[in-house]
Amino acid sequence: MIIMEQIAASRPMIQISDVSKAFNGISVLDGLNLEIPIGQKVALLGPSGSGKTTILRLLMTLETIDAGQVRIEGVPMYEGAPDTRRLLPEGQLRAVRSRIGMVFQHFGLFPHLNVLNNIALPQILNGQAGKTEAENRAHELLQMVGLGEKAYLLPDQLSGGQKQRVAIARALALQPDILLFDEPTSALDPQRVSEVLDLLNMICRKTGTTMLLVTHEMEFARQFADRILFFDHGQIVEDGAPDVVFTNPKDNRTRAFLGLPV
Ligand code: ADP
Repeated sequence: MIIMEQIAASRPMIQISDVSKAFNGISVLDGLNLEIPIGQKVALLGPSGSGKTTILRLLMTLETIDAGQVRIEGVPMYEGAPDTRRLLPEGQLRAVRSRIGMVFQHFGLFPHLNVLNNIALPQILNGQAGKTEAENRAHELLQMVGLGEKAYLLPDQLSGGQKQRVAIARALALQPDILLFDEPTSALDPQRVSEVLDLLNMICRKTGTTMLLVTHEMEFARQFADRILFFDHGQIVEDGAPDVVFTNPKDNRTRAFLGLPV
């Protein structure tokens, strides 16, 4: 029994095994391996075009892989031979896909729906809640992200930072185990960045959600993450705790990117 518990506890939340992906014949990921434990906060850094966003999109099944396997807490997303993968049929995929939420760079709110309905509607469409329950959860989440007074406004009546919080609340409403963030601070004023950091840390404490975040803001990554992954041409060239990666990276490409002597 103890051994079983240890095995369960050590099972990664995300397991990317030998994953390859090309666009129009140009390889973006080539045999990528990556394991992320439950509850870890990971920042993906690296030059533009190095494949960071592709990894988030693969996890969301907005893109598919060409080879390899992706598992969410041990459950595979692909079937078929390792080098000719296809996504599992929709019915089988739904359960694993529903465990992953994403907050997009430009928030992706429905402009014609008020804030409350932006958060409630996906729960209803997903069959996770009826109207009343979805709205109650939306109100609770709006309180949590500090926007309890804004429920009946349209997204365009909110600031960038407020829209960001609505997008985060909407993702949380679906109770994901994994949250993905694509450049969550790039559309925000610098003074709003620390608010996002506080909010994400609070969510982690409350929910234990595993988080992957693509960013180009080094200071934000340093304060947010338990683990930094530095990408270059689709490969992980640095993998470690922020203090180590930022002060003493092993790889010359990371050193150059961070402006350290190589
Ligand atoms: P990053 O997030 O590190 O900037 P991306 O993952 O967005 O990098 O992109 C990696 C490479 O894949 C880039 O060269 C990009 O142009 C290419 N790419 C990404 N998505 C597509 C797509 N849908 N079609 C064609 N090329 C793509």
